[in-house]
Amino acid sequence: MTPRTSSFVHADVCKLPVGIIGGGYAGMAAAVELTRHGVPAVVLERSTVLGGRARCVHTDGYALDNGQHLLLGAYTELLRLMRFLRVPPRVLERRALELRTASGELHFLAARAPAPWHLALGLWRAHGLDWNERLACLRLMRLLRRKRPLPEPLRSVTELLAYTRQPERLNRLLWHPLCISALNTRPEEACAHTFQHVLQDSLGAAAPASEFLVPRCDLSELFPVPAARFLGSHGARVHVSATVKAIRPLSEGGFMLEGTGFIETRVGHLIIAVAPYHVEPLLAPLLPKYPELVKRIQNIEYRPISTTWFHPGADWRTPHPILALTQGPAQWLFDRSAFGDPQGLWALVASASEPASAEAHTTAVWQQLRRELDRPLSPPKWARTVTERRATFACLPEFERPPIRTPMPGVFLAGDYLDPRYPATLEAAVRTGIVAARTILRGMSKRAS
Ligand SMILES: Cc1cc2nc3c(=O)[nH]c(=O)nc-3n(C[C@H](O)[C@H](O)[C@H](O)COP(=O)(O)OP(=O)(O)OC[C@H]3O[C@@H](n4cnc5c(N)ncnc54)[C@H](O)[C@@H]3O)c2cc1C
Repeated sequence: MTPRTSSFVHADVCKLPVGIIGGGYAGMAAAVELTRHGVPAVVLERSTVLGGRARCVHTDGYALDNGQHLLLGAYTELLRLMRFLRVPPRVLERRALELRTASGELHFLAARAPAPWHLALGLWRAHGLDWNERLACLRLMRLLRRKRPLPEPLRSVTELLAYTRQPERLNRLLWHPLCISALNTRPEEACAHTFQHVLQDSLGAAAPASEFLVPRCDLSELFPVPAARFLGSHGARVHVSATVKAIRPLSEGGFMLEGTGFIETRVGHLIIAVAPYHVEPLLAPLLPKYPELVKRIQNIEYRPISTTWFHPGADWRTPHPILALTQGPAQWLFDRSAFGDPQGLWALVASASEPASAEAHTTAVWQQLRRELDRPLSPPKWARTVTERRATFACLPEFERPPIRTPMPGVFLAGDYLDPRYPATLEAAVRTGIVAARTILRGMSKRAS
């Protein structure tokens, strides 16, 4: 698969920095991994802030998370890097897995017990489930906990739910909202295997893996900014407002990076850590003999996420700071005042649906809120919908992840769309950054020995 050219395997390239295009979670994870092993890295990020799709948006004097990101205890690699960077644990609020619908129809709280008893006891005590629904939950969890792949004909989440005879009400209250928010893809088209992996590594693992970790700080401060501080104090370089426009392979080995906002830079290896829709102009000229890889990335489908922010009126109260919504368009409500947000905003997240317009969506979510909380609310003091149209790739059964190592020697990809196990998440992005960095490190140590 990977041809080697003699020009590239020049001893000199190992002394050059590794170039990383993109300062999102994938690119910054790769840079930290290389730097902590003593390999110099240079990160080029075209935006003015680090963090990519997980960033802070400033609007009307408010500082907002562009998507109300939620982490899980199962994000082992991101959490490991945060510990390494000494990010204080208080930036994340840890909460036991709790699913409480705004309507009060369902309330599940994982018990304080070792796995799998935290779920079994939680189900036993759950409010709003009959015995048939409890047994159906256990049936699905038993299938998902198996380390074996799912039976072959099962492709979509809808097929998986039908196969395990989930009652319609349970689908509506639990599985559909979980699938849409975890995979950003509707159950009828979402990949059953990826859903299995998410549930296996969270609900099916030790109790802390299923905990919700809610950021109490700006998303850049969660990881990319502490990472940049570490890189800066260990000899690596991070440039923002630096757009790479061309990559020129050099006959003497390595690559010349050209663009705006930075001085032409020669690098030995390269990690292209941009979103898939930005890959083509960078990768296609390097891979004229492999158009199928570029095409595969170009053909990726995307799904949007809309987040509606409300500055609540004085009479706005929730029974719990995180509520599941079941009537659409939004699936989750977060009362940010419970997470140290001085603005005290409410965020309502609607995954996998394209709003006709921001105004229409804001109105629809406002009506949904009143309906599901089932009481009159004074109008919000301020409201805004932020839609990321290409928020994540569509997690479809037929989507085969491109490889991290490209056919061009010395060129690697990193990003949430490459991890074979997870949907587009911060954890998937970080994992692929680490894999790309470790592959380079292994290659270097082989050449040195
Ligand atoms: C609204 C929304 C809500 C989400 N909610 C969650 C959630 O709750 N939990 C979760 O785990 N995940 C969530 N995600 C997914 C998560 O944000 C992404 O999976 C992750 O941020 C992707 O990181 P990445 O590094 O792969 O790519 P990106 O974040 O896209 O980073 C790529 C970077 O490359 C830069 N770049 C592009 N082209 C160039 C160039 N030519 N030169 C230099 N730089 C370039 C870009 O500016 C960008 O900073 C959400 C995403 C969105 C949009």
